[in-house]
Amino acid sequence: MVTVEEVEAFVQNCFPQCPLCGSTKGYEVSGFAKTYAQCRSCGAKWMSSDFPKCEEITHIYLSEPAHDGKGTPLKTPKKYPITFWQDAASVQNALKMEETKKNEEKKAASSDLIFQSEMTDQQLDDLIKKSLEEITRWDYGSTLQGKGLGSLIGNTSVADATMIRELRAIFEQNKIIIIQNELLRRAILSHKTTDKP
Ligand SMILES: [Zn+2]
Repeated sequence: MVTVEEVEAFVQNCFPQCPLCGSTKGYEVSGFAKTYAQCRSCGAKWMSSDFPKCEEITHIYLSEPAHDGKGTPLKTPKKYPITFWQDAASVQNALKMEETKKNEEKKAASSDLIFQSEMTDQQLDDLIKKSLEEITRWDYGSTLQGKGLGSLIGNTSVADATMIRELRAIFEQNKIIIIQNELLRRAILSHKTTDKP
């Protein structure tokens, strides 16, 4: 049975520098079967059934990211070949790529919102104007203008089309209400901050 010290020396020999932080402080081996190795500098923890064999490392998984969160996107169950972890540049590159991907997803998600919180009052006003125009586009001759509904009773396809138009118009109305609420919220907040004695 190999000792913890032997496994630690073995892991450090295979990875003289921590794949994540580049430290040469070595690893603390733990686990019942000595399959965990944690960087003594950044705290990133790898797992491999190869560690206690002390022969060759054919695979490792990042089991825990560094204490500061570095490496989170590379955590298990993502599988990377051993050559990936041996090449510091490829690790940093993958981290950068994951970061960019995350930012793009975040950006895409926020553009789905009715408005973005960083928009100016003027931009919100413009959105309201746009929605008002949309309403007149979708809501011609219908309930919101105080007439219509007659066509809903007779012809189904016309009724469906009218319904869809109505829903579009109502959606735009809701958007206006939501944006107006934001403008009100801002007005109240700025009143609160400027009105202090
Ligand atoms: Zn490290």
